[in-house]
Amino acid sequence: MNLHEYQAKEFLRQEGVPIPPGEVASTPAGAAEIAKKIGHPVVVKAQVLTGGRGKAGGVKLAQTPAEAEAVAAKILGMDIRGHLVRKVLVADAVDIAREIYLGAIVDRSTRTIVLMVSAEGGVEIEEVARTSPEKIMRASIDPYLGYSDYQGREIGFALDLDARQVRTFSQIARALVNALVQNDANLLEINPLAVTPAGELVGLDAKMVIDDNALFRHADFEKLRDLEAEDPIERRAREEGINYIKLDGTVGCVVNGAGLAMATMDVIKLYGAEPANFLDIGGGARAERVAAALSLILSDPKVKAVLFNIFGGITRCDEVARGIVSALDSLRGARIPIVVRLAGVNETKGREILRKANLVAVSSMSEAAQAVVEAANSNQGGRRR
Ligand code: GDP
Ligand code: MN
Repeated sequence: MNLHEYQAKEFLRQEGVPIPPGEVASTPAGAAEIAKKIGHPVVVKAQVLTGGRGKAGGVKLAQTPAEAEAVAAKILGMDIRGHLVRKVLVADAVDIAREIYLGAIVDRSTRTIVLMVSAEGGVEIEEVARTSPEKIMRASIDPYLGYSDYQGREIGFALDLDARQVRTFSQIARALVNALVQNDANLLEINPLAVTPAGELVGLDAKMVIDDNALFRHADFEKLRDLEAEDPIERRAREEGINYIKLDGTVGCVVNGAGLAMATMDVIKLYGAEPANFLDIGGGARAERVAAALSLILSDPKVKAVLFNIFGGITRCDEVARGIVSALDSLRGARIPIVVRLAGVNETKGREILRKANLVAVSSMSEAAQAVVEAANSNQGGRRR
């Protein structure tokens, strides 16, 4: 789960990172109100779940509340890389002498938390990694030993900070790692970490990604989710308990089990088409979830044919068949070739249910894949007939 800048900054502030005071507004008048309260020049910043807002015109300075209002009116409603701006952060503006990049990620290959720092702050780290990877300094933090001050000091001196700044820098690095660990984040970035003309270090932008697998430990994070910004299809999938990732191909797949879903995508490619999605209905899915999965897939206009690949175990083939039939009943008009492969528990019952609905189930995976690829490739003219 991606967090907005203002949310990520709150977590950093709680750990003691210096963050300029600010609040979020969804109207220009609201932005003016906050600017008045702050009583200094402010920066008005688009809150969208993407980077590069500065370049896109989504970050602007304003000297007065009236100016903040005018700037917010321009930024609200803007489209930044496909994200509609619905909120702005209005924060105390900071003078910048220098911009540093400071980030931490969970690195699975070394099984540590890796601290990444670059003197080229303000630029996206992916960009630095591509153009001048030697400019990124790294320190590995063993999860059992935790962060040690020497790690931040070493980097701080390499950044040419003075002794006092190095101390602060190390405290900020420690706070960043704490915030990452406490909140089960995969990634937490401060970019830029600004050095002011007076030599203070201040976090001006933050990015935070929470590990979805840890969300069960943080029931209170649900309120941080920006439902408006979420893709409507992915949101429905999440609510139904379906693992769904949209891809670019034409063959929709409904599969039980992540491994089988991967194999299904491979076999579709093998026979000459591209999968339209990864979808795992999970174990023991009932008819309702199967129906929800099919309707999710059919809401993608690129889908030309659908393959159900079900290996019955905890998931029963008859339950799946009932789901397919009931989904087709409620989705009248969306006629699309459907190929079903059923194997395993209650297979015969499942086939019987499908047969009554004029659907045929095959039992081999390659047979099913060939049939669905052929159907997708010959259904180029559109799926509604
Ligand atoms: P991003 O483009 O989405 O990464 O958004 P940022 O919040 O990082 O803002 C982009 C750039 O705007 C930063 O690198 C800074 O140069 C500038 N900026 C952001 N906040 C302030 C501020 O308070 N004062 C000044 N002078 N510049 C700022
Ligand atoms: Mn930034």
